[in-house]
Amino acid sequence: MSLEKAEALVIRQADFSETSRVITLFSKEFGKSSALAKGAKRLKGPFDAGIDLLSRCRVVFIRKSSGSLDLLTEARLVSRFAPSGTNINSLYGGYYVADLLNGLTEEYDPAPEIYDLATDTLTKLMATDQHSLTSVVEFELGILRLSGLLGSLTECTVCGSPVTQSGQPLSKKFAPWISQGGLLCADCRRPEFSGRSISAGSVAALRQLSSDDSQLSGRLRLTKQQIVECHHFAVSTITSILGRRPSTLRYLDGI
Ligand SMILES: [Zn+2]
Repeated sequence: MSLEKAEALVIRQADFSETSRVITLFSKEFGKSSALAKGAKRLKGPFDAGIDLLSRCRVVFIRKSSGSLDLLTEARLVSRFAPSGTNINSLYGGYYVADLLNGLTEEYDPAPEIYDLATDTLTKLMATDQHSLTSVVEFELGILRLSGLLGSLTECTVCGSPVTQSGQPLSKKFAPWISQGGLLCADCRRPEFSGRSISAGSVAALRQLSSDDSQLSGRLRLTKQQIVECHHFAVSTITSILGRRPSTLRYLDGI
C-alpha cells in the first residue's frame, strides 16, 4: 500500500454502491488504473467536478496490492472537457478517445506520450475551428503508433511493392494485414483478409498523420475522402486488436 499523486484523465465511471463509484483513470505517471471513489455519488461529494468523465485532474490515491481496487482520496479539477453546446461531434469524439485509452492500454503501464496525445486531442476537439474527424484519426493512429501496434506503412509485406515511388503514390490499393503488422497490395490480397482496401495516396496520408512530427501533420491538406479512408484503416486495426468494434464508434458516424 502506498500513497501516490498523479495527473490524470477520467476515462470511465461505474456505479459501485448507493454512494460510491469506481473511477478508471489514465494518468501521466502510472497509465491506466481503477480506484474506488467513496461518496462520489453524493450531491456534495468529496471530489466535486474532478471526476467527471474526461476531466483532467490532480489525484491522490492509495495504491493497493494487486487484485484489489485503489482508493481515491483526492481529485482536484485542472480542466474540464467541455465542447461548446452545439458541438456534439466533439463530445462523441471525446467519448471515443476515453474508450480507446481504456481498451488499448494495460493497467499500470505508464505511457506519458499517450497521455499528452490524449490531452492535446481533447483540447483540439474543444476548439470548434478544428475538424473533429481529423483530430480523431490523428489520435487513433497516434495511440496505435505509440503502443507499437501500427505496422510498416511503406510497402506490401508479401511482394514488396512500394506505396510511393519518387514521392508519388502508386495507383494501387492496399489493405491492412493486421496479424503481420503491415500492408497487403491488391495483387497479394486473399479473401480471408477482410480489411477494407485504401488507395496508396491514403496510405501516404496515414504515414503523415501517424508521424510524431506534429509540424508535418499540421501542414497536411487532406481530402475528406482520405481522412475517412485513414479512419477505416485505423478502425480495422483497432477492431482486430480488441476483438470487437469499440462501442463508442457508432456515435462517430455523423462526423
Ligand atoms: Zn503485394
